[in-house]
Amino acid sequence: MALEQTYPEIRSAVSALCAQFPGEYWRKLDEDRAYPTAFVQALTAAGYLATLIPQEYGGAGLPLGAGCAVLEEVHRSGGNGAACHAQMYTMGTLLRHGSDEQKQRYLPAIASGELRLQAFGVTEPGSGTDTSRIRTNARRDGEHYVVNGQKVFISRAEHSDLMILLVRTTPREQCAKHTDGMSVLLVDMREAVGNGLSITSIDTMMNHASTALFFDDLRVPVRNLIGVEGQGFRCILDGMNAERILIAAECIGDARWFIAKASDYARERNVFDRPIGANQGIQFPLARAYAQTEAAALMVQQAADLYDAGRPTGSQANMAKLLASEAAWFAADTCIQTFGGYGFATEYDVERKFRETRLYQVAPISTNLILSHIATRELDLPRSF
Ligand SMILES: Cc1cc2nc3c(=O)[nH]c(=O)nc-3n(C[C@H](O)[C@H](O)[C@H](O)COP(=O)(O)OP(=O)(O)OC[C@H]3O[C@@H](n4cnc5c(N)ncnc54)[C@H](O)[C@@H]3O)c2cc1C
Repeated sequence: MALEQTYPEIRSAVSALCAQFPGEYWRKLDEDRAYPTAFVQALTAAGYLATLIPQEYGGAGLPLGAGCAVLEEVHRSGGNGAACHAQMYTMGTLLRHGSDEQKQRYLPAIASGELRLQAFGVTEPGSGTDTSRIRTNARRDGEHYVVNGQKVFISRAEHSDLMILLVRTTPREQCAKHTDGMSVLLVDMREAVGNGLSITSIDTMMNHASTALFFDDLRVPVRNLIGVEGQGFRCILDGMNAERILIAAECIGDARWFIAKASDYARERNVFDRPIGANQGIQFPLARAYAQTEAAALMVQQAADLYDAGRPTGSQANMAKLLASEAAWFAADTCIQTFGGYGFATEYDVERKFRETRLYQVAPISTNLILSHIATRELDLPRSF
C-alpha cells in the first residue's frame, strides 16, 4: 500500500483543477514554447500559490508540506509546476528574512495574485555551482544599490513582477569566509526592465521560460535589501532548501505519473497474445520504480517536516532531491521502455514528461554537489574543493 497521503483535501482539489488542463494543453504549450498563463492564473485564483503566505498577509499560512502536496499533484496529473513553483520557495527567503515593512508591502499583493514573485536569480555563467564566485555586484550610492553583472538560466524572469536576486556587495577576496559579502535584493522587474536590466530568452530541451539577465547600472532602492547586507548567502539558503524539497515533491509526482501511465499501458497492450505487463521483464522495473518512489517520498516528507519545525534541513533537503529526482528518472526511463515505440510519440505525453523530469538531476543543484555535501557533512570526509 502506498504511503498515506498528507493533505488529502488539498490534493483532491488540486487534482480536480489540473483535470481542466489535460495533456493536450501542456503538449500545445511545449510545441509553441509558450508560458502556461491560464494554468498559473487558475492556480493563483484558487489560492494555491499563496499556500505558504501567512494568513495575516492574505495567504493560507500552511507549512511547506502543504506546498509539497500542491506541487506533487500538479506533476502527478501530467502538468508542470515549474511555471510557478518559485512563488513558493522564494517564501523561504522572504518570510524568514524580510522586514515587516517588506512583507506588508509585497505579500498581500502576491497572495491576491496582483504581483508575481516567480524569479530567483543566483546562477551566473562564470561561477556555475560555486555560488561564492558570483560577480554580479551591487555598489551603494546613497539610498540605492547600483547593480552590474550577468545571470544565466533564470527561469520565468519574463513572467514575474519581482525577483529575488543574489549579488556581491563585498569582493570575495576581502571576506573572511567566501560565502560572506553577498546580499539579497528584491528587484521590481516592472521598473527594472529597460532601466538597467535586459532579458533574453534561452531555448532549452523542454518548455521552461529560461532567460539570461544583463545588469547595467540597475538602481535598486536600499529598502529592498532582504536581511543584513553581506549575509545574503544565509538568507538564500533557506530559499534553496525549500526549493529542493518542493522540487523533490514534484519529482515524486512525476514518478507516480510515469508509473501509473506505464502500468495502465502494460495491462492493456497485448503482444504475443497476452498483456505485456504479464512479462516479468516489464513488471519488475515498474515494481522497482514504485519501491524507489515510495522510499524517496518518505525522505521528502521527513525533509518538509524538519523544515516546518525550523530545524536544520540541509542534508535532508539534498537527500530528498537526490532520491526523488533519481526515482523520477528511473520511472521515466521504465515508462518509455514499457511504451516501446509509442513512448516516443508526442501524443502520449511520455516523451515530454521524460524531457521535463531530466532537469532535476542538474537543477536547482546537480547530483555531484549533493553527494559532495553528504560525504563531507554527514560522513566527515575531506572536501575535494
Ligand atoms: C532549465 C533550467 C532552469 C534553471 N533555473 C534557474 C533559476 O531560476 N535560477 C538560478 O539561479 N539558476 C537556475 N538554473 C541554473 C542551475 O541551478 C544550474 O544549471 C545548476 O546549479 C548547475 O550549475 P551549472 O550549470 O553552472 O553547472 P556547473 O557548475 O558548470 O557544473 C557542470 C557539471 O560539473 C559538475 N561539477 C562541478 N563542480 C564539481 C565538483 N567540485 N565535483 C564534482 N562535480 C562537479 C556538476 O555537478 C555538473 O554536473 C537553471 C538551470 C536550468 C538548466
